[in-house]
Amino acid sequence: MIEQTTFPEALKILPLGGLGEIGMNCMILEYQDEILVVDCGLLFSDLEHFGVEFVIPDFTYLIERKDKVKAIIATHGHEDHIGAISFLLKAGINCPVYASSFTTLLLKEKLKEHVHLSATDIRTFKMGETIPFTHFKVTTVSVNHSIVDSAALIIDTPVGKVIHTGDFKIDPTPFYGQTLDKSVFAKAGQEGVLLLMSDSTNVERCEHSMSESIIYQKFEQLFAAAQGLTLVSMFASNVGRMGQVFSLAKKLNKKIALSGRTMEQNVRLGMEAGYLKGAQSQVISLDEIRDYPRNEVIVLSTGSQGEYRSALVRVACGEHRQVKLQAGDTVLMSSKFIPGNERAIGQMINNLFKQGAEVLYESIHDIHVSGHATRPELKQMLELCKPKFFIPIHGEYRHLVHHSKLAAEVGIPVENIVLATSGDVIELTENSCKIVDRLEEGRVLVEGRDGKDISKVILKERRQLGEKGVVFSLMVRNAETRKIIAGPEIITRGLADQATENELVYHAKRLVKKVSDEYDSQVEQGAVDMDLQETIRVELRRYFNAQTGKKPTVLPIVLDL
Ligand SMILES: [Zn+2]
Repeated sequence: MIEQTTFPEALKILPLGGLGEIGMNCMILEYQDEILVVDCGLLFSDLEHFGVEFVIPDFTYLIERKDKVKAIIATHGHEDHIGAISFLLKAGINCPVYASSFTTLLLKEKLKEHVHLSATDIRTFKMGETIPFTHFKVTTVSVNHSIVDSAALIIDTPVGKVIHTGDFKIDPTPFYGQTLDKSVFAKAGQEGVLLLMSDSTNVERCEHSMSESIIYQKFEQLFAAAQGLTLVSMFASNVGRMGQVFSLAKKLNKKIALSGRTMEQNVRLGMEAGYLKGAQSQVISLDEIRDYPRNEVIVLSTGSQGEYRSALVRVACGEHRQVKLQAGDTVLMSSKFIPGNERAIGQMINNLFKQGAEVLYESIHDIHVSGHATRPELKQMLELCKPKFFIPIHGEYRHLVHHSKLAAEVGIPVENIVLATSGDVIELTENSCKIVDRLEEGRVLVEGRDGKDISKVILKERRQLGEKGVVFSLMVRNAETRKIIAGPEIITRGLADQATENELVYHAKRLVKKVSDEYDSQVEQGAVDMDLQETIRVELRRYFNAQTGKKPTVLPIVLDL
C-alpha cells in the first residue's frame, strides 16, 4: 500500500478500473486531504456460470482514506459508470454523489433497493455548472453519448487543468440534447490543459461515428413498411433511441407496448427527466396488443444481449405469455453485440427466425449507431484540448495502445503519454506525469444484487466442481468395534453416465472397504499412521482419475457411532 508520494504537492490519479478493460470505470483524484471519485461502475462478468454476477473495483484504498473522500461524481448513467456506487456507499464512504438529471433518477431507483442508502445525498448538477471543492473546481460539460445527460468534466486542480471526457462522441445532430460544444474544450485548450484523459472504446474505427438521428430515417422506412408486429430491442438506458421510436409511432399512428421491467422503468424516468414528451398516451399494455391490427403495434423490448430469461429470449423461445411472433413480424435489434455475448445473441436470433419473424441486426442492417467517439473525433478532442500530458482511458489494453499512438500522431511528445492500467498510481505535477506505484489485487467478484463477495477459493471450488464432478463417500462404523454398520455408500455427480457410474461405484466401494480394513489392521498392531478420511479421499481420487481421466472433488465421511 502506498503512503509516500515522491512529490507531496502532486495530484495523485488512481484508476481503480476501466483502464485495460471495458467496464468498472472508477477514477480517483487525490490532492492532500481531498479525494474525488469520478464514476464508480461495474463490469458484467463472464463467470455467470459460476454464480458471479458482476465485478466491482476493490475499494480498500478509499475505505482506508474514507474521511478524505469528498465526492463521487458520475459522468453518466450507464452501469459501468454508476453500478458500483451503492457498494462504495455500503462500504462506509459517506459523501455526496453528484450526477446529471437523468443519472440522478437512475441512481435513486438503484439506491431504493438498499433501505439505508435511500437517504444518500445526491446533488443534481446542470450542464455547464461549476462545483467547488477545497482543492478542486469541477465544471461539467454536456457531451453526446448513447444515454442522455452525459457529461465530461473539466477539473481545475492545484497542479493544473485536468479533463476527463467520460464516454462521448461528437454528434452534430443528436436526437435529444445539445451538440457537443467544442468551444468549451477549445477555450480550456487555450487556457492550458495539463492532462487529458479520454475515452478509447472506438479508437479502432476510422470513420466518423454516425449520428443518432440516422436511426430515425432507418426506423421510419421499416416501421412504415411493417406488415406485422415490429419488435425493437435496445438498451433500456438509451432514451434518445426510445424517443425516436415514440416520435415515429406518433407520426405513423402506431401504439407502443413495453416489454421488460427496466424498459418500463426507464420510459417512466425518461418522461420524468423531461424527455419522451407525451409518451404516456402512446403506450398500451402487452395484453392490449391483440386489440390492435398487428402492423399498428411496436414492442420496445429489453434483452438485446440474449440475457438469460430476458424478455426477448422468452419471445424467441415462444415462451413469452403476451408477445408471440408469427410470419410477417419484424425484430429490429438496435444495439451492439457486446463481446462475450455473441453466442447467446446468435442463439436468440436463430430462435427468432424459427418463430417466423424477420430479424434485422447491426451486422446486416444499419439500425444501430455507437455512442463512442471514433478516431477522427478522438483526434479532434486531442487537438481542441492540446494537453501537455495524455492518459487514454475507458478501453481494453489494445484500445489504450492505439489511442496513445493517435496522441503521438497529433504531436504530444511520447514521454508525455502515460499508458496506465487499472491499479496504477499516477502522479501529476506541472512538469511530470508518471506511474509511481501500483496497488495490489484490484477487483471483487460479486454474487447477486446484495453484493456478497465470492472469494477466489470459492470460485476455484465451483470451477473444480463444474469441470471435474464430485464424489461423495459415506461409511458408518461402530466406534468401539470399528465394524462397518452402514456403507460404504458412494454417490457421484457429473462424472459418468448411469451405467458407467454403477460400475465405478461398485469398485469404489470395495476400495473404501479395503482402505478401512487396512486402517483396522494398523490399529490392531497399535501403530496408526493413517488419517482414514484423508486416505479414502486420496485413493478415491486416484481411482476415479485412472478410470475417467478426471480428478473429481471427493468428500469422504467416516462416522464412528
Ligand atoms: Zn457509457
